[in-house]
Amino acid sequence: QTVFLSGATGFIAQHIIKQLLDSKKFKVIGSVRSEKKGNSLAKNFNSPDLSFVYVKDISLETAFDEAFKQYGSEIDYVVHTASPFHFDITDINKDLIIPAKIGSTGIFKASVKYAPNLKHFVVTSSYAAMNDFLKETDHNLHLNEQSWNEMSFDQALENPVFGYCYSKKIAEQTVWDLSKELNVKFGTTAVNPVYVFGPQCFDSSVTKVLNTSCEIVNKFVHINPETEVDESNKASYVDVRDVARAHIEPLLNSEKFNGKRLLMDGGRFGNQSIIDILNEIPQLKGKIPVGTSHRDDDIASQMAVIDNNETKKLLGFQFITLEKTVKDTALQILKVEGQL
Ligand code: NDP
Repeated sequence: QTVFLSGATGFIAQHIIKQLLDSKKFKVIGSVRSEKKGNSLAKNFNSPDLSFVYVKDISLETAFDEAFKQYGSEIDYVVHTASPFHFDITDINKDLIIPAKIGSTGIFKASVKYAPNLKHFVVTSSYAAMNDFLKETDHNLHLNEQSWNEMSFDQALENPVFGYCYSKKIAEQTVWDLSKELNVKFGTTAVNPVYVFGPQCFDSSVTKVLNTSCEIVNKFVHINPETEVDESNKASYVDVRDVARAHIEPLLNSEKFNGKRLLMDGGRFGNQSIIDILNEIPQLKGKIPVGTSHRDDDIASQMAVIDNNETKKLLGFQFITLEKTVKDTALQILKVEGQL
């Protein structure tokens, strides 16, 4: 069975590749933007079951056509993870929204046109497609697998964070719309994670600045002990290994997961929760602030209520705890920096 995975160089994507290869059930064709990145991934995975194709810029609707013309008849599953997730941009529409929307359109249409044996399509969406961050602290708001972010295009252009949220909503919506319009025979699933933490798949990916979500933990590992712990950041976490698993389960059971949105949420956290956990690591003691210990213990009561019981029931496994995901992220950073 062969999986085509877009954005193979990504933080989440590498964990998906690892789990697919470890299962010994799948071959993977990963799309990357450059030869250099492909070569370094090939070296790290060192597997005859992993190959690469070059897809330079998903902002072009035809970007995936060449790869699918060449390999389409071999492809059993598509996992579309590629999408820009960073806020260091100049043009919200061009740098965030267009690649997300056109990327989804291009890979979905190429799948329909060139992959006649396709059984299932998984798109990496986001919690951002389900809720608008302005409503995160409204405890009266209840969110579940049916929720949609109602943000408008005009609002999205106000700042890069809004732009990113909108880009994920429109990219996922595009997939559901196309699956109906084109009346596809294969199954479709969206995976909607909150902030994803956890170790990089390979130590060599630990660089000074990490991918957007892990950078939250990285910043606290390197924070000055005199700094005040800012209370304003409140969100939700999930571990990357659970997110990777949620991308693979639908490939193993297409019927069960067809039409589903998997809301991957492990629970609420605030900055203080992260600081409390990091302070349990002996090598960090005294090097980072203590803040007000346990200040975030009842954080869930200050935030929108997330009910992802349907997702948990479908997946049937326990999610990794905040403590483990934060510790594993931090310990890998400290190891690479020679501090353990
Ligand atoms: P990364 O930044 O590590 O991965 C993003 C991937 O998308 C990379 O492979 C990147 O390629 C590729 N990509 C970005 N823009 C383009 C483009 N214009 N053309 C082609 N490829 C592109 O982030 P994550 O692994 O965290 O994110 C992966 C997916 O998960 C994204 O869809 C993101 O929106 C989603 N997500 C992530 C969450 C998180 O907390 N991490 C939470 C919810 C959803 P390259 O390496 O060449 O830049």
